[in-house]
Amino acid sequence: MPDALLDMIDRFAGIGGSPGGGVRRLTGSAEDGAARRLFAQEAEQRGAVVHVDPVGNMFATFATAPAADTTVLVGSHLDSQPTGGRFDGAYGVLAGLDAAAALAAEGGLRHNLTVVNWTNEEGACFQPSLTGSSVYTGKYTPDFALGLADRMGRSLGACLEDIGFRGAEPFPLRPLRYLELHVEQGAELEDKGLRIGAVTTSWAARKITLCFTGVPAHTGPTPMGRRRDALRAAAWAITEFHRLLEAEAAEVLLHWSAAKIVAEPDSPNVVASRVTVWFEIRNPDLAVADAVGARFLAAIGPGVAALGIGQEVLGDEARAGTALDPEGVAVTLEVAQALGLPATAMRTITGHDALALQALVPSTLIFVPSVDGLSHNEAELTLPEDLLNGAAVLRGVLRRFAMEAA
Ligand SMILES: [Zn+2]
Repeated sequence: MPDALLDMIDRFAGIGGSPGGGVRRLTGSAEDGAARRLFAQEAEQRGAVVHVDPVGNMFATFATAPAADTTVLVGSHLDSQPTGGRFDGAYGVLAGLDAAAALAAEGGLRHNLTVVNWTNEEGACFQPSLTGSSVYTGKYTPDFALGLADRMGRSLGACLEDIGFRGAEPFPLRPLRYLELHVEQGAELEDKGLRIGAVTTSWAARKITLCFTGVPAHTGPTPMGRRRDALRAAAWAITEFHRLLEAEAAEVLLHWSAAKIVAEPDSPNVVASRVTVWFEIRNPDLAVADAVGARFLAAIGPGVAALGIGQEVLGDEARAGTALDPEGVAVTLEVAQALGLPATAMRTITGHDALALQALVPSTLIFVPSVDGLSHNEAELTLPEDLLNGAAVLRGVLRRFAMEAA
């Protein structure tokens, strides 16, 4: 059955579309620019006015309460990972637009409605992630965000300028709440046969960036006994990391990764002298993730030193889980129930703009199932029926929020 929302999702998936049906729409790229222009056009066609703030966040506002200075924010992100799926982020922005436009047509709301596309949620080229939403809440300054550089040394500010989405003024309306609809990116809903998830809190994470330091030398003639090979130490540490975490995971629920490595000077003819590895440990409880991280660091120290390699902690971030607004969870479950959709309260393991926004306003995050829990993969899939169920719940929750007393 043809549906305006599904059709719109399809059209966005064509921007930066990859051969396997996913998208590659990196922040600040030409594809990001094209998706942003199409979003502005779709929003304006439906009667919204689009504002771009200094870090490129896009706010499409329906003046559903023109006399009020208050608005309810709903949205997500249009950027993707290099191997992104078509629903991650885009679904939340487009379902938000669909819901806000429908409610604007119904009328009778107490607040305005603003559909948001946050800049650089994914953090694929510019770290840290959740950039735009974290500037909006005041966690980062605009200058900090605009100065972030990618691997090629290009700044986020310059990239936004290039695609025409570096605005001047902060968004003027007063936000009351933030609401986000997203694909689960895990398999809990699917495994339990449920259709809707209302997110209560996020998992905690400890993220440790280690630099292994050796000595650059010719890979040919340098005697083996005199080499200080940082890549060899990093490889050993990564193997130990997986061995240790596997053992820890027999006792407690853990997710972990060593997902990025940078070896310098990056020549096949020079023994690597500086190797940086990004380690990540996640558990619902920060104390657990923290303790596991401490045991990992203590465990690898002697082995790395035995290889004649130095070890420097470049970053060590303990991210506590964020508790989202309990009322939003209750409203989501009520709306789902009224629509006859089996729903549950659940935790999220992934980061989302809603978790950042909770620092500023009560925030609500709604999940729909991901087939096989697959994401950050071009084969990521959410079935049309689930997309429409989520959109219906989003509309119901947004209506309730837009009718609340300020
Ligand atoms: Zn996302």
